[in-house]
Amino acid sequence: MKIPKTIKIYCKKCNEHQDHKIKVTKSKKARADSKGTRRFQKKHKKGYGGKAKFTIKPKKQTKKPNFTAECSKCKSKKPFSIPKKMKKVEIV
Ligand SMILES: [Zn+2]
Repeated sequence: MKIPKTIKIYCKKCNEHQDHKIKVTKSKKARADSKGTRRFQKKHKKGYGGKAKFTIKPKKQTKKPNFTAECSKCKSKKPFSIPKKMKKVEIV
């Protein structure tokens, strides 16, 4: 999927819409002590008979890409995502 280099979105600092530069970034690792991770650990990995229920996972072919949008005026960065799964990301 082709994605434009700059988009016009709202900037919190400037308090108005500004042109933002877009860069592709990798998603960060989930925190070890987040609620979701703790719930998963409790349910599947801890205690008597604590065995991972779902060990084999099919590999997914596509991912939701992560972007960072940088404001052209105040240079503040913010995470930006398109809620679609895609194989290739081309910034045009
Ligand atoms: Zn700004």
